[in-house]
Amino acid sequence: MTKNRHQTPQSAYIHIPFCEHRCAYCNFTLIANRQDLVPAFLEAIDRELQTLGQAMPIQTLFLGGGTPTYLSESELNQLFDSLDRWLPRQPHHETSVEANPNDISPAKLQLLTNRQVNRLSLGIQSFDNTKLRALDRSHTSDQCFASVQLTREWLDNVAVDLIFAAPGETQSTWQRDLETAVKLGVQHLSTYGLTFERGTRFWSDLQKQRIHRSEEDAELSMYRAAIATLTSAGFEHYEVSNFAMPGHRCRHNEVYWQGKTYFAFGPGAARFVDGQRETNHRSTTTYLKRMQQGSSPTAESETLADEDYARERLVFGLRRLEGIQFEDFHRDTGYSLESIGGAALRRYLQSGWLEISQDTIRLTRQGLFISDALWPDLLVAENANECAT
Ligand code: SF4
Repeated sequence: MTKNRHQTPQSAYIHIPFCEHRCAYCNFTLIANRQDLVPAFLEAIDRELQTLGQAMPIQTLFLGGGTPTYLSESELNQLFDSLDRWLPRQPHHETSVEANPNDISPAKLQLLTNRQVNRLSLGIQSFDNTKLRALDRSHTSDQCFASVQLTREWLDNVAVDLIFAAPGETQSTWQRDLETAVKLGVQHLSTYGLTFERGTRFWSDLQKQRIHRSEEDAELSMYRAAIATLTSAGFEHYEVSNFAMPGHRCRHNEVYWQGKTYFAFGPGAARFVDGQRETNHRSTTTYLKRMQQGSSPTAESETLADEDYARERLVFGLRRLEGIQFEDFHRDTGYSLESIGGAALRRYLQSGWLEISQDTIRLTRQGLFISDALWPDLLVAENANECAT
């Protein structure tokens, strides 16, 4: 019944916590400008991989960060030697690496493709120099163009991330970014509205009114523009923030959204193995120290209760535009959709934010635009009780 979360993982995430500098909006787990720590990190990752005890063949591998391409070619080779030993990739695997435009060179692309990387995800964020500066990115518009063009010569699966609602951004800047990405022929696009996270420089700038959030209406119309531009260019809008040309969805991210299990290694990395959610220590130096001492890198661990798993499965499943099939949900969680979603689902259906057709429940277009507001109610237990009455 609940076999999804007890299956041996077929996916692995590796967190590379290095960046050249920390962008003002970023609160990811990373350490800036510490090339000197890379050798210790590579040893630590190898030690953590050894805890698997045996080679675990996988279907999807995702190297994220931070910036994996911050590593030199020889460092990347050393990392892939460890990965090939402990996480051998099966035929037809998907291997994604996140990259910054200013790290892309023929030599690096040669190395990555030699090491079976078949998908590169470029942190472009914008093709406009003024917006890039406003976002505190360290690359230029020219580097964005050059990196996409060069990567396309090596790989037929190129993804880019674009941020909208940057400080001072106009609708026309955003429209140009979208159209540029389409013209450059990328296969996958992730679009995110800028968020202001506590602890970042942007957060304190916002408190001191040095920068301002975009108006909600402006942000919504940028999101609408993304959907209109990308779908009319042939992209499939398959998750709230993700668009892919046919056959180019991110298989690794689909594992998360479908509530499947996955390994994860590196500082701050979160894994889901045998119903257990574990997160490694977020501090890179603490992670390194723990691995050097032979102690566990895990900072938090919880066994996900059946019902909590079902609630997460519901929310992640609804983020996929295909929605959730009633039978799949029951098979994966042991619960009916109604017993978990209850009153909230009924309310959303009545409001026209969700729809049911045949055996599937999914977001409507109207629901898509307010989807973030829907999830909190689905994650709390009282709905199930209301439904039972
Ligand atoms: S490059 Fe990406 S991961 Fe690195 S600091 Fe900037 S936003 Fe964060």
